[in-house]
Amino acid sequence: MIEDNPQNKKLIETMRQEKEEESFTIRPQSLGDFIGQTGLKDKLKIYMEASVLREEPLDHTLFYGPPGLGKTTLAGIIAKEMKGNLRVTTGPALERAGDLAAILSNIQPNDVLFIDEIHRMSANIEEILYSAMEDFALSIIVGKGPLARSIRLSLPRFTLIGATTRLGLLTSPLRARFGIVEQLRLYSPDELTDIVKRGAAVLGVKILDEAAVEIGIRSRGTPRVALRLLRRVRDVAEVKRVGKVEPDLARYALDMLGVDSEGLDEGDRKFLKALVELFEGGPVGLSTLAAALNEDAQTIEDIYEPYLIQKGLLERTPRGRKATRGTWEYLCIPVSQYFLQNSQTQLLTEEDL
Ligand code: ADP
Repeated sequence: MIEDNPQNKKLIETMRQEKEEESFTIRPQSLGDFIGQTGLKDKLKIYMEASVLREEPLDHTLFYGPPGLGKTTLAGIIAKEMKGNLRVTTGPALERAGDLAAILSNIQPNDVLFIDEIHRMSANIEEILYSAMEDFALSIIVGKGPLARSIRLSLPRFTLIGATTRLGLLTSPLRARFGIVEQLRLYSPDELTDIVKRGAAVLGVKILDEAAVEIGIRSRGTPRVALRLLRRVRDVAEVKRVGKVEPDLARYALDMLGVDSEGLDEGDRKFLKALVELFEGGPVGLSTLAAALNEDAQTIEDIYEPYLIQKGLLERTPRGRKATRGTWEYLCIPVSQYFLQNSQTQLLTEEDL
């Protein structure tokens, strides 16, 4: 085994450290480093400043939007700016009341407790969270049967930051306990280009502006995708012994990854093809599409759809998912008569109204 040799052990340790450092430094550490989401940043700055003036922690905050847009990163930035520690957990990880109690009983004043996928938290945990959020108190029941008793512990004032890809799945009592509810939107290609350039500087990758633009355009509005593509382009550059990433190399690497000039990958194309070829362009229900693709409905809703809708390649209608004219054009398939008739009927109905 490689790890047996002390020399190699050291090397592996250094590599691990580098990796940790890399993911640590690549995350923006302040609002100034956080690219895009301007309106949201402006609001957060004001809310944080006001809380500092009042010597109170920031109000409980809920971020929602597709994965990879910066929800966890913002929670880290808030903790830093409010001079508290960041404690991270996820909704599904909190199985028993004791899991949440263990975290809450270690919390310090001004700490930020970040709960990712908060919509997947169980109902009994949610109940405990209510009094923790509202009264900064932890009410738990110890023991069973006639010996059971309820104990109440007071907690320091902290900020709960919840993140979800599904605002609609949050129960209304939980949602009502967040003073700040903000949506994160997909990023523009220009913002993603800046994220690629910043990422390249952190990773020590030399890249021409035009090549960064190429990656930015194909990152489907998502910083996490932009940084992942940058890393893969870096791999190709290193193997080809190229000192600087030029646009041609970026295009070559991205084509190799199956990401086309519209930023769509194999999964998106499979999705659109199924919609058009199996269902004549829809409308078709999400679960039917998911079954046809052998994919999880949540993955389709969270990962594929937001970008395809933004690109005008998909519509969500009350009757199900529907292709657009652009979908047929994108797939270079002649628009089907059925789809045309269907769209015409809809147009007529709208006109009649
Ligand atoms: P989420 O919690 O929404 O899934 P993360 O906060 O984990 O997303 O972000 C994913 C990656 O993208 C992280 O590596 C982060 O550094 C990077 N990132 C996200 N938003 C930005 C941004 N606005 N500017 C620069 N990098 C960003």
